[in-house]
Amino acid sequence: MTDQAGTGRTRQLPVFHCPYCGDEELTPHGDGADAWRCGACLRAFTVRLIATGVTG
Ligand SMILES: [Zn+2]
Repeated sequence: MTDQAGTGRTRQLPVFHCPYCGDEELTPHGDGADAWRCGACLRAFTVRLIATGVTG
């Protein structure tokens, strides 16, 4: 396994659709590494990865 997820390195997650309205017009919001703003519904939100490879 070469998964780099547990190394503590902060990386901006690719978000392709707004979780609230489904629009694709997302832009980075503020200075948070994981904050996004939706241009359609004007919601700002964060996306946080909490686990990888969880099968249970
Ligand atoms: Zn939206």
